[in-house]
Amino acid sequence: MPQYTPPLRDMQFVLHEMLNVEQAFKEMPPHADLDADTVNSVIEEAGKFAANVIFPLNQSGDEEGCTYVGDGVVKAPKGFKEAYAQYCEAGWPSLSCDPDFGGQGLPELVNNVLYEMLNSANQAWTMYPGLSHGAYAALIARGSDELKQAYLPKIVSGEWTGTMCLTEPHAGTDLGIIRTKAEPNADGTYAISGTKIFISAGEHDLSANIIHLVLARLPDAPAGTKGISLFIVPKFIPNADGTPGERNTVKCASIEHKMGIHGNATSVINLDGAKGWLVGEPHKGMSGMFIMMNGARLGVGMQSLGLGEVAYQNSLAYARERLQSRALTGPKLKDKPADPIIVHPDVRRMLLTQKAYNEAGRFLTYWVGLMIDQSHKHTDEKVREEADELVALLTPIVKAFITDNAFESTNLGMQVFGGHGFIKETGVEQYVRDARINLIYEGTNTIQSLDLISRKVLLDGGKKLMKFGKLVQDFIKAQAANPEMKEFIEPLMDIGDKVTKLTGELGQKAMKNPDELGAAAVPYLRVVGHLVYSYLWARMAAVALAKPEDDFYKAKLATARFYFAKLLPETAYQIRSARAGSDTLMALDAALF
Ligand SMILES: Cc1cc2nc3c(=O)[nH]c(=O)nc-3n(C[C@H](O)[C@H](O)[C@H](O)COP(=O)(O)OP(=O)(O)OC[C@H]3O[C@@H](n4cnc5c(N)ncnc54)[C@H](O)[C@@H]3O)c2cc1C
Repeated sequence: MPQYTPPLRDMQFVLHEMLNVEQAFKEMPPHADLDADTVNSVIEEAGKFAANVIFPLNQSGDEEGCTYVGDGVVKAPKGFKEAYAQYCEAGWPSLSCDPDFGGQGLPELVNNVLYEMLNSANQAWTMYPGLSHGAYAALIARGSDELKQAYLPKIVSGEWTGTMCLTEPHAGTDLGIIRTKAEPNADGTYAISGTKIFISAGEHDLSANIIHLVLARLPDAPAGTKGISLFIVPKFIPNADGTPGERNTVKCASIEHKMGIHGNATSVINLDGAKGWLVGEPHKGMSGMFIMMNGARLGVGMQSLGLGEVAYQNSLAYARERLQSRALTGPKLKDKPADPIIVHPDVRRMLLTQKAYNEAGRFLTYWVGLMIDQSHKHTDEKVREEADELVALLTPIVKAFITDNAFESTNLGMQVFGGHGFIKETGVEQYVRDARINLIYEGTNTIQSLDLISRKVLLDGGKKLMKFGKLVQDFIKAQAANPEMKEFIEPLMDIGDKVTKLTGELGQKAMKNPDELGAAAVPYLRVVGHLVYSYLWARMAAVALAKPEDDFYKAKLATARFYFAKLLPETAYQIRSARAGSDTLMALDAALF
């Protein structure tokens, strides 16, 4: 049976020793009184909920999957509905929501920590509240007061859940070609018609109402993404007293049978003149949806972090107890027929790869979470702006680098189990299957890579990247007098220089041939991702070096050394690949493949 223990010690390390959140919260008036103890106790409770209520439903939910009962009715796996009721009763949906709408007003960062644990426990279940939180974020930013009053209290309490309806059968990555139509009604509402596919949590029995956020085109819409508007389309139209009223003509036609996340209903949603309300301005729906998508991209990073962690925990436990062969240097457990597989160098490589990726991923996602809070609530406008820019730069890294790494980690987790990992009972093959979708949805990792190099780096002449570079340089300067840090600072400087050079080269090449960016984007993201992780690992090493006696810091330091020695060298290959250009990719005529 798989196991999961919330990694509270490492979470606290990141929150308090790396991010010093208590101090950071003091500079944000809504959180000025939030102390470290309160944060720790919230996280501890969240961990108990994730481990005791949600985790036990993970394997059974995967085996049973969702059921399309007929006539638009979908049932989530056994126990999901009851667990969701407990989740709402305990107030978890409202954790970081605005108190004006019934929220508890805690920082988004704390919500991120909750989501890491929920995702370790059960990604498929977590997507139901996860999408609702995305709908909350889009509505609070773009909804009219009337829409906010009608929907937010119910979404905040968890009574109603949300979805994001972008994808259509012919339009996935390219949302500019969606066909769903919105015709104005005489009463100021819209009649929305079209088919949306792959809608996560699109239909289920967890909540009394489902609130779809739908992209559609108005009759006078310009072509492309500049002609897309955002609508709120409830399954049941709310009555004046806030109860779910008349059934809207939005209906689930079927659900998909898929590789992983079986417990989440991936739905085909038909809109047949469904009543909808415009959110924000006409034709400017993408900006509202981007709020949801950016939150969701960070959310997908949290999904993968969660899966990477639970896969690691299980493979570590197995590696300690599975006896197989003797250590190359001679027997370690002489009274046993063989040594535990954790003695073998390559098993250690697999475990340390998972550990190094998880711990850097945790630092990165929590840091970005904190900067999201700062970008909204910090007293200093300059800090708000800077945080916003760094979040924009780092979002594609969170989405693509973490999900790529976690897919590798879950795979390695399975490999540590040998043949037993391939057998369903041990539970680890599910992590590989569940982790796979994270590379695809919310913009495939290719699209994230293009976003990084084109929009986030080159579009502003490298300004955001230089902001990040300044943080790295400041850290390097601060560590200059510390000889013990040399082993980390030298490779950090080296990868920083290489990224600067590579970025300049690719910018030049792209001016002559745009295919050069398409050819280099994916390896480029891996290189920048490693620059970010080198910075984060060097910072963690600096803290760990100061406390050499404590086992936690000994492990941290050993993992930092492993990262620099064994994982960072991937950049040599990726830089060569990025430099190799587009010629060999584009030379072959499509008909000759
Ligand atoms: C389980 C699941 C849940 C989902 N949940 C939701 C949801 O809740 N709401 C929602 O709206 N959608 C959802 N999706 C849809 C998901 O976001 C899309 O599948 C994804 O954006 C990719 O679109 P596509 O499948 O049409 O692939 P395509 O866009 O057809 O892409 C196919 C391939 O071509 C590549 N490609 C496309 N364009 C380019 C380009 N310009 N440059 C380089 N490569 C390119 C892609 O990277 C990909 O590898 C979900 C999908 C799945 C499978």
